Amino acid sequence: MNPCRCGRADEPGFACRRGPNTRCAADYQARISGPLIDRIDLHIEVPAVTAADLILPPPAEGSREIAERVALARDRQAARYAAIGLPHIRSNAVVSGAVLEDVARPDASGMALLREAADAMRLSARGYHRVLRVARTLADLDGLDKVGRVHLAEALSYRALADEIRRAA
Ligand SMILES: [Zn+2]
Repeated sequence: MNPCRCGRADEPGFACRRGPNTRCAADYQARISGPLIDRIDLHIEVPAVTAADLILPPPAEGSREIAERVALARDRQAARYAAIGLPHIRSNAVVSGAVLEDVARPDASGMALLREAADAMRLSARGYHRVLRVARTLADLDGLDKVGRVHLAEALSYRALADEIRRAA
């Protein structure tokens, strides 16, 4: 979605016509209800692309390499669930909350971070499981058996925007 009704609230030096940029953005973004936002796992701010950006060299990792990493992470997931007697489960997206809590159990420092964040961000039960699901997937992308603090921190960062919108509304 655009950041605000005029679409330019995030641009340096741009002043929204309907008052402060933060207000314009909050009013516009509040059109998406909290329960709907809660169901979207990855919220990322995407700055406008400038002509200067297009002149930069392309990123080192191309789409093909990324597709390979994703396929490996998905294979890992299917293999994990097959190994615990759930061959019909192919990905973290569809596994039950109970199994997820088991296979995505973070290390001690990850657990501490998750507890703090659940409190500070007032995560719903659904939100909590969604963070675990995303963190488990990030660990799979890294090829790791254990979900670490770094994976939880990244997963939580994708929800921070929803948290901001809720506060501003
Ligand atoms: Zn605006």
